[in-house]
This record gives sequence, C-alpha cells and structure tokens, in this order.
Amino acid sequence: MSLAVVYTRAPDGIDAPLVTCEVHLSGGLPSTSIVGLPETAVKEARDRVRAAILNAHMDYPHGRVTVSLAPADLPKDGGRFDLPIALGVLAANRLLPRPALDDCEFIGELALSGELRAVRGVLPAVLQATRDGRRVIVPRGNGAEAALVEGADVRVAGSLLEVCAHLCGRANLAPATAADAGPAAADANAADLADVRGQPQARRALEIAAAGAHNLLLVGPPGTGKTMLASRLPGILPPLGEDEALELAAVRSVAGHDTPVGAWKVRAFRAPHHTASAVALVGGGSIPRPGEISLAHHGVLFLDELPEFDRHVLEVLREPLESGRIAISRAARQAEFPAAFQLVAAMNPCPCGHAGDSSGRCRCTPEAIARYRARLSGPLLDRIDLKLEVPRVPQAELRGGPGGESSAMVRARVVAARALQLARAGKPNARLGNREVERDCALDAAQHALLDRATDRLGLSARAYHRVLRVARTIADLAGSARLDAAHLAEAIQYRRLDAN
Ligand SMILES: [Zn+2]
Repeated sequence: MSLAVVYTRAPDGIDAPLVTCEVHLSGGLPSTSIVGLPETAVKEARDRVRAAILNAHMDYPHGRVTVSLAPADLPKDGGRFDLPIALGVLAANRLLPRPALDDCEFIGELALSGELRAVRGVLPAVLQATRDGRRVIVPRGNGAEAALVEGADVRVAGSLLEVCAHLCGRANLAPATAADAGPAAADANAADLADVRGQPQARRALEIAAAGAHNLLLVGPPGTGKTMLASRLPGILPPLGEDEALELAAVRSVAGHDTPVGAWKVRAFRAPHHTASAVALVGGGSIPRPGEISLAHHGVLFLDELPEFDRHVLEVLREPLESGRIAISRAARQAEFPAAFQLVAAMNPCPCGHAGDSSGRCRCTPEAIARYRARLSGPLLDRIDLKLEVPRVPQAELRGGPGGESSAMVRARVVAARALQLARAGKPNARLGNREVERDCALDAAQHALLDRATDRLGLSARAYHRVLRVARTIADLAGSARLDAAHLAEAIQYRRLDAN
C-alpha cells in the first residue's frame, strides 16, 4: 500500500479552513473512490482527474485508489479539489517526490485536457496558507487576486503538467503578479462632485455621510440629481485600509468577481436594481455566496427607488445594518459574510414623484402617498441617520450656475475628519456603541434640553436619539472641534425632520 498527503483549502464564508487530501493505493480491481465530497461531485472529479493525468501522458494507477478529503463535513465546492487529488494520486504512485508536497498547498480545477481553470475564493485560501507558513500553487487565472496578499509565496500554473515539472525540479513556475489579470478596470471615480450644480444642502449631507459612514436617504422628485449625488460618494470617501481592502477582495473572490488591481483600495459602490431577489441582495444559494450587501462591504450600497424594493428584502437589511455581518442559513449549511456597508437610498416623495412640486402635477391621493411611504418600516428608517429633501433645481441654476467644489477638495476634509474618529475611537462615528456615544458626545444642560425637545417634537426613538448624537459628532469633527456645540447638534437634528411625517 502507498499513501500520499496533499494540502488544500475549502471555502467557508470568507474563511478557508485547511483540508487534507489523502490518497491510498492498494491492490485489487481498478476503482477510484472519493470520500468527503458530495456524491454528485465525486463522479465528475474522478473523471476530470483521471483524464487530466492520462492527457499529461502519465500513468493512472491500475489498482484501487481511495481519496479521502478531511474534515468531511465541510462544504465541498466542486472542482477546486481536482489539482490536489491529481497530485496525491501521482505522488502515491511514485511519479512525484512526496517531500515536495509538504510545505505547499494546491487549488485548481482541471479540464479533461489537463489545463488548470480558475476557481472562486482563492484569495482567502492564500491568506490562510500564508499565515500557516505554506507556499501555494494556483491556476494562472487566479494569479492577480493571489498577488494581493503581501508576503505570500504564490506560483501560477497553466496545467497539471507544469505543476508536476515544478515539483520535480525540472522547471520553475512563475510567481503570481498583478499582470495575471485582464486589462485594468477603468477608473470608477471619474464622476466628480464638481459636475453637480446647485444642491448645497445635499452636498453637505453627502460630505457628513462620507465623513462618519452614516446612512443617508435622499427624497425628491425625479430629475433632481439624487442618483448623480449618490454616485459621487465613493469619490469623496477615504481609501480602504490594507486589512479592509483584503476583506473586500476576499468577498469578491468568493463571489467570483474580480478585484480591480489598480484600484483595489477604492471603496465599493453597489447599486442593485429594485427587482433584485433577496438572494442577489443579501446572499445565499446552495453553496452560499455573498450578495450585494457583502460586495458593498466597507463601501456604499445604493438603493434607488427604495419603496419599490420587496419589503421582506428591506427587513433583512436591519441585521447587517446593526452588526455589519449577515448570517445565511440553508438546510445543510450556514455561512456568515461581512456586510459593513453604508446605506444610501433615494426615493420619490409620492408614487408619481411630484408631491410638493410647484408644478401641481401630482394627482396622488393622501392615502396613496401614505401607503407608498408605509412600505418602509419605522425600524429601517430609524437606522438612516441623515434624511434630506432634494428639491428641484431652477433650470437657470442647472445650466449656468457655477460648478461646486471638486471631489478632491471635499475628500480632503472627509479624510481629516475620519482620521480624528479613528484616533479617538478606532472606528467611524456611525459604528460607535451607545456607551462610546455617551463618552464622546458629552452634552451640557442646554444641549440636553434642545435634544429632548427635538426628540418629543419629532417622536424619535431611543435608537434615533443616539444616532443624532453620532451625526453631531461627525459635524463637529468636520469643523475640527473637540467639543459638540449647539450648532452641531441643531444641524444633526435637522436631518431627522422627515421622521416627523
Ligand atoms: Zn404624486
């Protein structure tokens, strides 16, 4: 009997637990069994591995081949185990030097021809392998994402034969580099705030939202630039930190999305359509995959026409809005994905969009308007810190008025204000816990009275009370002020005025 051991990784949320692939050869009738993979995946893996070995002009063992993937209760995502299984079979058959497999991990799907195909979730696997001090060999198509991991020893290969030549010392595989990706993505931040005419209040709210990572709702008739404003948010947000960027790249890797190599520290902006399914939005599937809210991790989730989204889908957002994570349960499996997104939403004031408009075009009945607004639940609206009416801009102002400040100028203030927050609490103000709010947003007696009056008048919940203070803290940070003063508080309260409706 002959035994070989190969290391690989399984996907689990954005983690990548170690999987040991053991291959035993023994006498007896020719057969291949694979333990640990779901039954449907076994036959396909067996066929691909056998064909790839034969097409590489190497011998497939003549006796009984037993492959065991452990632990067996992990979700086994199809083809990613092909390469480790094939190498285990070859090593057990003494066609590869077994010590060459000891300090290395392998991931990749095999085509029948022996070519290596890219798989999802390589980045988390490379991160974990590197932490465990092992080298990694991945398909060339996964090279660019693997190259994001600093200090990793990652080689890319195009086929099983290339991997074998490398392990036998006959040829060296090239290290993974960013160049393994396709052409670089276009600059996602080409849109500049300078193009937005008028709307000084909306620009101000956007700046506050960016500085403190607060959720924002823009309410106004069609054509007032709500979408245009929201899409400028990524351009004024601070860049992702190293760890944040890696977390986001890991989510993208698991979702099968590319990370734009030249712009991998730019925050994400995801804008799913209101017809998106719950699975597309929050994640799911038989092999759980992250949804839009996770692809917006550390970035912006923009929901245009908010009341048009399925109410159930919107309710599901409440958990991640609090915790920054989403748990996805399926019959057999559970997965958790990060989802610390910043919610930016837009809606019309009524079904036709023209309520409150001086044109008098709106014919919606008060009941129809009430029904429309009631599609959004109180608890969801509670979690939106900044709510703002975006009025129609006079035509003259739209055409001829001066452009506003550029994104670069606004971003400089945002970055400075965010740096104050990170130095003080280690997180943006929107993520402060209630105790931290009480510590960092101390009020004097007059400010207490002001906030109490506003709370009564607007009918704010206890949660909204703390959220007002978080926004006031951000406004003070933008002003470079260590203390909250009455003006900061009053401006923060203004953004809750729509709650009274
Ligand atoms: Zn209307």
